Amino acid sequence: MDERTAKALDFLEVAGHLSEEERAIQDATRRFVDERVQPEVAGWFERGVFPRELAKELGALGLLGMHLDGYGCAGVNAVSYGLASLELEAGDSGLRSFASVQGSLAMFPIRRYGSEEQKQQWLPRMAAGEVVGCFGLTEPDFGSDPAGMRTSARRDGSDWVLNGTKMWITNGGIADLAVVWARTDDGVRGFLVPRGTPGFSTRDIERKLSLRASVTSELILDDCRLPADAVLPEVRGMRGPLSCLTEARYGIVWGSMGAARTCFATALDYAGSRVQFGKPLAAFQLTQAKLVDMLLELQKGLLLALHLGRMKDAGTLTPEQVSAGKLNNVREALEIARTARTILGANGVTLEYPVIRHANNLESVLTYEGTSEIHTLILGEAITGVAAFS
Ligand SMILES: Cc1cc2nc3c(=O)[nH]c(=O)nc-3n(C[C@H](O)[C@H](O)[C@H](O)COP(=O)(O)OP(=O)(O)OC[C@H]3O[C@@H](n4cnc5c(N)ncnc54)[C@H](O)[C@@H]3O)c2cc1C
Repeated sequence: MDERTAKALDFLEVAGHLSEEERAIQDATRRFVDERVQPEVAGWFERGVFPRELAKELGALGLLGMHLDGYGCAGVNAVSYGLASLELEAGDSGLRSFASVQGSLAMFPIRRYGSEEQKQQWLPRMAAGEVVGCFGLTEPDFGSDPAGMRTSARRDGSDWVLNGTKMWITNGGIADLAVVWARTDDGVRGFLVPRGTPGFSTRDIERKLSLRASVTSELILDDCRLPADAVLPEVRGMRGPLSCLTEARYGIVWGSMGAARTCFATALDYAGSRVQFGKPLAAFQLTQAKLVDMLLELQKGLLLALHLGRMKDAGTLTPEQVSAGKLNNVREALEIARTARTILGANGVTLEYPVIRHANNLESVLTYEGTSEIHTLILGEAITGVAAFS
């Protein structure tokens, strides 16, 4: 990357507000992505695979459950976790999704709501990437409204028996452990379901045109019998899964800016070298206007992510503020990706360049972890006091 591009990517000098440790974590993640992911990811996307061995490599770098304390987790601050998410998603949203699900959706509930035995049994191996986790909340008939879930868990002696279907579950087909949310007589509760449990199976969702370098699956629970100690003891109600989503959404605030940065850098570089009408594309005012709009939204998005990160580290960040970050940054990242695609012309639609892959991935990011409409309603309620969900 030339000096001018490097300057443009950090135009407002946001990096100057990072500590040495935060920068070191960002640089190490970026190196991993540049060396291990960038050369291969278009092929993974094309073939629709997520190489399972990446789990251990991410674990060795300390990137799984990195914002959690103890049990083999790195225990870094929220800003470092965000910067790592940004660098992973600069590679591919599927890679960041893997790390988000593992750390924030599977490990976080065990760390926060699990028993001491559950923490010791699962967390160190999950931090190392030896055990892959997934998070089953969405169902075929309940997406934006997960409280309506049908998956149930009933007591049978001291055992639990689970029935139901979870849909669109990231990592489902490669997971060794599913955190499944089910309705009980005592409200919604979280269950730890190891692969191999009789009555539990998964089926991968094929023919996705987005997040192809990520496994997405259906989880099927058919009289799936679990011992009494499979339930997370410390939480009841929708508060459990929603608190996990807030953790993961925070990572997306940063991650989406990684995808946007790659698209912006690609478009800037392309505009400088592609000649039409005897001039580089960068010399046309219309192209400059596009690049400047991208620059502004990328820089504002980074500032927003850092601001929310500092609030999270100070313990003051609210779920509604996370919604503001998710809504804004994913929306703007998608706009940046689409605009970058236009600058690349026909080259913008091939996997030879990263832009269409990021644009397609961001369509999923816009939908999962709360759609843009749901985050709009969350913010609408926060500022008007009136809920408009139903
Ligand atoms: C690639 C991928 C990976 C995923 N990974 C996971 C995972 O790991 N675990 C998991 O549990 N889930 C996962 N999901 C599911 C995801 O969280 C849901 O898709 C999401 O919550 C939306 O639900 P839905 O698709 O059923 O859409 P619906 O809820 O049917 O919504 C369809 C449309 O209607 C809009 N809408 C719904 N209600 C309202 C309303 N009240 N007002 C206005 N508009 C409304 C929505 O915003 C959306 O635009 C994943 C999804 C994808 C695509």
